[in-house]
Amino acid sequence: MGEKDCIFCKIANGEIPSKTLYEDEDFKVILDVGPATRGHALILPKNHYANLYELPDKEAVKVMLLAKKMAALMTEKLGCDGFNLVQNNGKAAGQTVFHFHLHLIPRYKEDGQTLGWKPLEPTQEELEDIKKIITE
Ligand code: AMP
Ligand code: ZN
Repeated sequence: MGEKDCIFCKIANGEIPSKTLYEDEDFKVILDVGPATRGHALILPKNHYANLYELPDKEAVKVMLLAKKMAALMTEKLGCDGFNLVQNNGKAAGQTVFHFHLHLIPRYKEDGQTLGWKPLEPTQEELEDIKKIITE
């Protein structure tokens, strides 16, 4: 299940070469060409899903198991000091390639990168309102 003109479909299915770290029947793990840190990689499903909302449960389970395995392997091999999993959905969230992917980002002491946000300061009432919106 590929989508015409999707670069990650082409990479995941071998039409475009990539630095592949791992491959099985469902996924390819490749090095990111614009890495945040040394070893930054991406898990790509071979099937095309635009984002997390489209990802079937069965693949969501597999992707997290694979992330866990890759994080352990990469931490051992690269000797990184920490690890971020990042997954963007929608332009507003920073998604630039609209084929689901999970970023595997090894972190090193003083690597100079920040994957953070500026914390807001909601009141208890505002938090309660949000809780109600989401849960009721
Ligand atoms: P996102 O902003 O979450 O959609 O992430 C897209 C990521 O894909 C960025 O980190 C890019 O550096 C990376 N990227 C784009 N094109 C390629 C490519 N041809 N091979 C490997 N990584 C890519
Ligand atoms: Zn695709």
